[in-house]
Amino acid sequence: MKSVTVVGSGIIGLTSAIILQESGFEVKIVAKEKFEKTLSNKVGAIWFPYEIQPIEKTNFWASLAYKRYLAEANPEIGITFLPFLNAYTDKSNNDWIKQLPLGKVREARKNELPQGIEMAFIGEVPLAEPRLYLPYLFEKFLANGGLFENREIGSLEEVSGLGDWVINCTGLGAKALCEDNDLHPMRGQILRCEKMELPSFADPTKKGALLYVINRSEDTIIGGTDYEDDWNENTEPADTDKILERFNASGIQQNPQIKEVLVGLRPKRSSVRFEFDPKYPTIFHNYGHGGAGYTVAWGCAMEVAEILSKT
Ligand SMILES: Cc1cc2nc3c(=O)[nH]c(=O)nc-3n(C[C@H](O)[C@H](O)[C@H](O)COP(=O)(O)OP(=O)(O)OC[C@H]3O[C@@H](n4cnc5c(N)ncnc54)[C@H](O)[C@@H]3O)c2cc1C
Repeated sequence: MKSVTVVGSGIIGLTSAIILQESGFEVKIVAKEKFEKTLSNKVGAIWFPYEIQPIEKTNFWASLAYKRYLAEANPEIGITFLPFLNAYTDKSNNDWIKQLPLGKVREARKNELPQGIEMAFIGEVPLAEPRLYLPYLFEKFLANGGLFENREIGSLEEVSGLGDWVINCTGLGAKALCEDNDLHPMRGQILRCEKMELPSFADPTKKGALLYVINRSEDTIIGGTDYEDDWNENTEPADTDKILERFNASGIQQNPQIKEVLVGLRPKRSSVRFEFDPKYPTIFHNYGHGGAGYTVAWGCAMEVAEILSKT
């Protein structure tokens, strides 16, 4: 049996590791941080291909991931489906609606639109709650015979020595590891609030004025910011004010009770890096999933396993 080492234990690393196990590989994960400390543990996380390229590939991965979430939907592991209203304009690319099973998406009616949104689709989409889903994935990985090592890797040369194959799922960490000038952070600040009875929605149509609401089982997430090349990991009161202003202006509810303010840096690239390394051919890169790691993770993982199975 061939061995594969996955570097990284965020959503991309864990899903890659599990699919590789399901495809018959012996898998080890090496990561600087266990899943609890990763970006993946801080976020929404709703199924929506936001700020990720290239669309032809990411829509395909998103559709595979959608089917996997559908197959394993269970509130106990943090996977549920909910109606999600998504704003668009004449310039938006709405290809994502083709990834939803027929009949699960429709044009929103005028009386369903939050203030400031002119047009939107409503689709039934997966919600992955990281606090339940990541531990579930990690336990599943261990139960399948996987090994975990807590270690920071310093170079690609070191990565290449880790196994017959190595999958690089280091998210923004790949910037230093691969000296990747294309990879950069897109800073997202979000407010984790007392749970409200609200519809979940997003308005990604106005750069610099992102607004979204994700209603989860125990809280409601209100986002957010979309600042390119911003490495600031501190929470900024001015951003909290702007997010609240946009939320209050949507007219659906006023003054949410904030439990926690969080910041995460989306690992953004002009396109997801999904290829063998040209210098170290045992390394396959799987990073740079921007604002949609959860949305595409299972699809990328399936394609990685298919590629390695054929190689
Ligand atoms: C505010 C916000 C909201 C978001 N909402 C959503 C959403 O609703 N839906 C969605 O699909 N996506 C969402 N995203 C995007 C999503 O969070 C990311 O795309 C995803 O978490 C990236 O996962 P990853 O596994 O690549 O990276 P990470 O979660 O960052 O994991 C990287 C792993 O690599 C390890 N690592 C890094 N460098 C090294 C090294 N040198 N040696 C060893 N290990 C290393 C880390 O320790 C970690 O284990 C959101 C992002 C933000 C910021």
